[in-house]
Formats: sequence, structure tokens, C-alpha cells
Amino acid sequence: MLSETVDEMGLEAYIVGGYVRDMILERPSKDVDVVVVSNVEFMEKTGKANPGIELAMAFTKRLGKGAHCSYFKNFGTAQVKWHGEEVEFVGARKESYTRDSRKPIVEDGTLDDDQKRRDFTINAMALCLNASRFGELVDPFDGIYDLEDGIISTPLDPDITFSDDPLRMMRCVRFATQLKFTIEEETFAALERNKERIKIISQERIIDELNKIMKAPNPSIGFVELQRCGLLELILPEVSALDIVEERNGRKHKNNFYHTLEVLDNVAKNSDNLWLRWGALLHDIGKPKSKRWDPLVGWTFHNHNYLGMRMVKPLFHRMKLPLDERLKYVEKLVDLHMRPINIADEEVTDSAVRRLLFEAGDDIDDLMLLCEADITSKNEQRKRGFRENYQLVRQKLVDIEEKDRIRNFQPPVDGDEIMQIFGLTPCKEVGILKTALKDAILDGEVPNDHEPALSFIMEKAKTMGLEVK
Ligand code: ATP
Ligand code: MG
Repeated sequence: MLSETVDEMGLEAYIVGGYVRDMILERPSKDVDVVVVSNVEFMEKTGKANPGIELAMAFTKRLGKGAHCSYFKNFGTAQVKWHGEEVEFVGARKESYTRDSRKPIVEDGTLDDDQKRRDFTINAMALCLNASRFGELVDPFDGIYDLEDGIISTPLDPDITFSDDPLRMMRCVRFATQLKFTIEEETFAALERNKERIKIISQERIIDELNKIMKAPNPSIGFVELQRCGLLELILPEVSALDIVEERNGRKHKNNFYHTLEVLDNVAKNSDNLWLRWGALLHDIGKPKSKRWDPLVGWTFHNHNYLGMRMVKPLFHRMKLPLDERLKYVEKLVDLHMRPINIADEEVTDSAVRRLLFEAGDDIDDLMLLCEADITSKNEQRKRGFRENYQLVRQKLVDIEEKDRIRNFQPPVDGDEIMQIFGLTPCKEVGILKTALKDAILDGEVPNDHEPALSFIMEKAKTMGLEVK
């Protein structure tokens, strides 16, 4: 139907970009982009300068009920939506850039001009919509061969492509990660040369691409490339700084960057949760700051979980990541990621498990996923030992939750009740009693029920010299 509309209007139109790429790769694709090439006859006949909008409106009319068209005159673009499908129309464009902005000067252009302004050869292929050439592939940069060979390369000189719009550097790594493609050598060299230009790109756009890398099945691919070309140091120095191995007296510590990526991929195998993946990426960022050399035990990273947790908020703030409960969740994962392993390393006591459950609350399952992903030891026996102990921790978590309901702990005697019994207003004593009760329950000394909790409070209050009112 679209094809007929194009022909009737005397225009020339192509499906371009991501949709063509994904169709050939047999990958699901969300949006269809159509480029419309105008001609003198169309302009003279109609006097209209926006062939994309004109075609979109005619197509909407033809679709009839349920179709909706919206357009932006300033950009010469239009969207047609019907039954959840979306097609975007735009006139063929030619773009030229100035040095300090990624906003180009745009003019009308030919299909070829339009393909030249696209980021990668695999994104620059066009399929003709006109009936006489229907389905013909127009591929001036041999994108089809790069698709077959799994290669990301730019249609023009990569230095120009990246310098014109540095966001394309992030897109380059993102496509390499999503498609598991290799970045062509010259293109990669241009990433290294142009990396500083990323500074003119807004944080929102950078994080958008970074999150697409994070959501890929193997996010590590992207982080290895970002590190290799030097972009990671500019956008996520905290993670980039993990890529170091120091040796003293013949003792090396592990490379925490590659360890982190292994943990990230392990987590990605088991969960789609983007924020759990962020937790994995950041779980060890406190290590460089906490690193010490101890002549007796070698390298230590004491408290790296706490130091790391403290780094998450400034990082989220700078990266324009959300500062709501998602930040809290990532902080909690980083903070608690050593707890299960410490518990599993020693005897698994009820009290330690109860405290872990209390602090992790509903995020306990995600924390356990992260901690299990964190076992990247090359020593199979050690690995097995940890796994078995984790099984024990998991079993205890289930048993204790069933018995004591700690996950969403609400004290069986609360502050209001304490104040009422002893005729108190909010004061230090109320806090002391509440904390003592919580500790006693978490240590398993008092059951998590009203009656025994009340007796405990009464006794404790007596030792403090409080009297019932
Ligand atoms: P996806 O939709 O999976 O993100 P896509 O390739 O469709 O991938 P879009 O951002 O939807 O990406 O863009 C559609 C097309 O527009 C691309 O295939 C590419 O041809 C072109 N394009 C998008 N952004 C740029 C850019 N920054 N520079 C050059 N061309 C771009
Ligand atoms: Mg798209």
C-alpha cells in the first residue's frame, strides 16, 4: 500500500537504516524509517518542500481508520502510527557539521547524500519501495558484506564520521556489543584518536548508549572495547581504574577490571535486571582506594565494599543516572556484596543469616545472584567449596525466613507502644529499647512475636530504671 502511494505521488522512497539491517539479520526491529527523495516535478506540481510529510499524510489517508499522522515541519519529519506499528518518514538529507556542535546544517539531498551521513555501513543500506524496483537493495558502501563478516565500519573517513558526531563512537561500541561484531581496524583507530570529542555529548545520550551496552547478552564486549580505545577512562574512570595488576615480592593481585566483567556477564546470564547489572559493574570500584600491601598476608582490600558504596551516589549523579530507589538498590548491593561470602567462609550461623536477611530485605535474592556471580576463581576446588557453602546460606535463608519472617522486619513491639507503656515522649530511652529488641530478635535470643518481645522490653526497661505508667 505504501509502495502504491509513493508511485502515485511521483516520488521515490526507500526503507533505510536499522530496519534493513535487522531484516537481513533476521532480528526483531521496532521502527521503520523511510527516506523520501524529492524531484523537481513534484516540487513544481505541488509547491511543497517536505516530501516526507506529504507522503506520510497521503499514506495515512490511504490507511484510513485507526491511522494517525504527526509531523514536525521544522525537521521535515513525520510519523505514522497504526495498530501499534510505527513508520517514520523523512526527506533525503545532506548534512554538514561545524567543529563544536553535533547539530549539523541540513539541506535537501539525494539518496546518496542521505546514505553518506549515516553512521555505519551496516546502517546505510536502503530498500527501494517504488513498484518498478521494489525490494532492490541500494548499498553503496557494501554494508551487506560487513553484515556477513560481522564488521562495524563507517561509510566515510571514520575520523570525520566520529568527529562530526562523537555520539557515533558510543553507537559503534554499542552495535559491536549487541551484534557481537568486530570494529574494523581503521574505525577503531579513529575511536582512539577522537575519544576526547565525547566531551561535547550530553550525559543523557551517553548513558542511553551505555545502558544499551549493559542490556546486551554479553555486556563485557562493550566494556573491553571502551577500555581499549580509552573512552571508558573518560566516561567511567572508576571502572577503568580497576584495570591494573600490581606485583610485590612476586605476589600479584588479580586484575579487577576483567574480574568485574566476568561477574557482569555471569549476572547477565541469569537476570535481565539492568540495576543488578549496574551493581555487578560497580561492586568492586572501592578496591583501588582500599588496596594495601601487608607483608604477612599480601594484597588486601579491606572495606572496599563500604568505600565502593560511598562512590556510587557521586557516580550516579555525574552520569545522570536515577537518584531514587534504584540508586539505593545499587548502593545496597555494593555495600553487602561481601557478606554472604564472609558467612559462607566460616560457620554459617543463624544469627549472621538473620542479620543479612534483615539488611537486604526483599533484595536478598538479587544479592545472592550477584555473590554467586562473583565467584570467578580459577581453582575449581575452591569454586566448588564456595558454591556448596552458598547452598547452605540459601537453605538457611529459606528456613529462617519461614520461622522468623525477617525479610520485611517490623518490630513486634514498636516505639508508640513503648512510649505508651512507660508514659514517655520520644527520647533516647525509646531508641535504646527498640535497638535492644531488634538485636535480640536478630541474634535469635527472643522470638519475633509480640508476647516474648513485650516481656523482653519489660525486663530491659527495669534495668534502665523505667517504670510502667
Ligand atoms: P536501534 O533502533 O536498535 O537503536 P538503529 O540503527 O535503528 O538501531 P536508530 O537510532 O533507530 O538506530 O537510527 C536509525 C538509523 O538512523 C540508523 O540505522 C542510522 O542509519 C541512522 N542514525 C541514527 N543515529 C545516527 C547518528 N548519530 N549518526 C548517523 N546516523 C545515525
Ligand atoms: Mg531504530
